[in-house]
Amino acid sequence: MIKPDYDLVIIGGGPAGLTAGIYAMRAKLNCLLIEKTVTGGSALITDWIENYPGFPDGISGYDLTDRFTKQAKHFGLKIENKAAKELWLDDGLKKISTDKGIITAASVIVATGTSPKKLGIEGEKSFYGKGVSACATCDGPFFKNKVVAAIGGGDSAVQESLFLTKFVKKVLLIHRRDSLRATKILQERAFKNDKIEILWDTIPKKIFGKDSVETLTVQNLKTEEIKDLSIDGCFVFAGTNPNNDFLVDTVKKNENGFIYTDKNMETSVKGLFCVGDARQTPLRQIVTAAGDAAIAVIGAEKYIENFYEE
Ligand code: NAP
Repeated sequence: MIKPDYDLVIIGGGPAGLTAGIYAMRAKLNCLLIEKTVTGGSALITDWIENYPGFPDGISGYDLTDRFTKQAKHFGLKIENKAAKELWLDDGLKKISTDKGIITAASVIVATGTSPKKLGIEGEKSFYGKGVSACATCDGPFFKNKVVAAIGGGDSAVQESLFLTKFVKKVLLIHRRDSLRATKILQERAFKNDKIEILWDTIPKKIFGKDSVETLTVQNLKTEEIKDLSIDGCFVFAGTNPNNDFLVDTVKKNENGFIYTDKNMETSVKGLFCVGDARQTPLRQIVTAAGDAAIAVIGAEKYIENFYEE
């Protein structure tokens, strides 16, 4: 059998991938983590995290993920800046082509997370970076004393709207139903915040303006009334898509592309695991991503032991 470059390759350096790295190094596996940008994942751009245990006053996403990275490096995890392009099976090995060459591994943990979904409405693409954004922590400060729209009713929409109120004059939270999906504590804070106005049963139809965003056309789904809202920015928090395109037909995924795993986080391919937001899971949080990763490494360790014995 051809010896792989690594016992284990972890793809993705968010909380899930970094936790997998900590466990893999402590299990003394020959392990590499590849990350296409910087470590931290989507948690990195989360303003404030209050539901990760151990931080009674909360912690910024930047600080928390920095701690994950430092802890992984403390145990000697090798992290390389590479983007996975394709993964396939060859002669018992897992092969990953990246933008910087091919890597072989006995076992792989996919921890690639998700990216924000687009609305697909007119003006969204052309005004991206000119008033349309999916990142309140990155772009919120540009909208000091302005009026912005936030689209969605989940944790991201409500949490990020609350963050935006630090800068803006008003957030118009536009939600397509008559109740929010977000955690109750976030809902309560939004209802109490004078700077947040919720437009219920409302969908965005079109974004327009001259050089930057000026107007959002919306429709009330109950009354069918269409109106134009004067806004300076539009933040889109309409859910997420998994970053799994490099796994074309290798593993079983649900209709939205999230990867199916068993209770050991193993996918439909033996020795190939998926953890965190990219997998089909009832809850996408940092704490569950970390838990997934710990379980996956135990499975990977067993797989790797058998791999070398065969
Ligand atoms: P999400 O929970 O999927 O919510 C997406 C929201 O956008 C929903 O309210 C949905 O409406 C709405 N929506 C979807 N497509 C739309 C469209 N085309 N037009 C208008 N509205 C649309 O996504 P998320 O808020 O980004 O959260 C993703 C995951 O990360 C969740 O599991 C969440 O719990 C987690 N997360 C957790 C925290 C935290 O713990 N503090 C923070 C951020 C994210 P419907 O409600 O009608 O479906």
